[in-house]
Amino acid sequence: MGTMLKMLELMLRQKLLGQGLKGELNTPLIVSYAVTRACNLRCLHCHVSAREAMPNELNLREAMRAIDEMANLGMEALIFSGGEPLLRKDFVLALAQYCEDIGVITALLSNGLLMTPQTALQLKEAGIKAVGIPIDSVIPECHDHLRNLPGTFQKAVAAIKTCLELDLEVVVTTMALKDTYDEMPKRLQFLADLGVDEVAVYDLVPVGRGKDVMDQAMTKEQRVNLIRWLQAMQEDTEMTFTMSGGIPLYPEITMEMHRNHGTSPKDLLIKEFYIHNSVGCHAGVLYFSLRPNGDVYPCTFLPIKAGNIREQSLTEIWRNSAVLNSLRQRQKLKGACGSCEYRETCGGCRGRAYACTGDYLESDPVCLKDLMSQEGISAVDVKRFGWCVG
Ligand code: SF4
Ligand code: SF4
Repeated sequence: MGTMLKMLELMLRQKLLGQGLKGELNTPLIVSYAVTRACNLRCLHCHVSAREAMPNELNLREAMRAIDEMANLGMEALIFSGGEPLLRKDFVLALAQYCEDIGVITALLSNGLLMTPQTALQLKEAGIKAVGIPIDSVIPECHDHLRNLPGTFQKAVAAIKTCLELDLEVVVTTMALKDTYDEMPKRLQFLADLGVDEVAVYDLVPVGRGKDVMDQAMTKEQRVNLIRWLQAMQEDTEMTFTMSGGIPLYPEITMEMHRNHGTSPKDLLIKEFYIHNSVGCHAGVLYFSLRPNGDVYPCTFLPIKAGNIREQSLTEIWRNSAVLNSLRQRQKLKGACGSCEYRETCGGCRGRAYACTGDYLESDPVCLKDLMSQEGISAVDVKRFGWCVG
């Protein structure tokens, strides 16, 4: 099925059934492919510690073969990331066109520095449906500090404008940190004024260089306030929000809050690839991350090698890897997550559990269970999850 037909099907599913992507459990519906480790920035919180390219990154033939295999396994959407994927622009364009031809939806996460009008047009023509660009503060110096290079704020804003002018869907990714939390209202207003209609708010998962700034993760109170505030804001704005970075219960919490308030979110489901499967953390269940050298991780935030596609077929890795199979058996979870009534529908962020304890089956220290009960939501209400990819 071509990509346009697939988008149409998704829109109909959303309108008629309130559901986004649909797939069997243990099907990799969404794959995040880091096409290179190279980056033209050295962001302080980069969870993949991007720097120079790996010496052995996949070539076009290998990447196409991997995409064929992913599609055979049931992949519906592929997200190009990095490093900075536009440092391999021709490679990305060729792969995006290939995905378009075989009916896989594609998106791209970029820091925006290389987003000229010509590049944006090429991405659009190759079939890229959405571009994620980061704005981490509305104060230029603060954004530039986090991104570790002066002038990046202005370039990111210019990139957003360029994509919007071409009618490319833009998802602004934005990091909510302890010190920048207070400016979130101003930041979202700034993005609304720019004409952005979708924002992915990231909670810090202390992975990669993010470990060095983990004292900047939001407090529990800030996180809960932010969720309540985003939901309230969504009632009177066209902007849609998602929370990424290990908050698997967020979609259900906001959906239930809307139901309780008698409001409905905008066209949230299609835009965020919501999936009608209550599995919470989807690492290794409905999602995996392909690294530049062919390594397979359960998630970009869970850097445990499940295999390498140069050594084994992807199908073999997906079906037989010990780590992926453990992630699919929630009865193996330990601590609070292991005995939780939301074990099957949330499961906690396995990436954060691993980063904080060294054991990917341990408890996730960030838990929204209290908020669920304050909002009168019970375990049986949980029906869906969003996506959180790096
Ligand atoms: S303890 Fe919290 S994070 Fe863990 S599964 Fe339950 S609700 Fe999710
Ligand atoms: S480990 Fe799970 S919850 Fe955490 S970021 Fe990855 S998919 Fe999301």
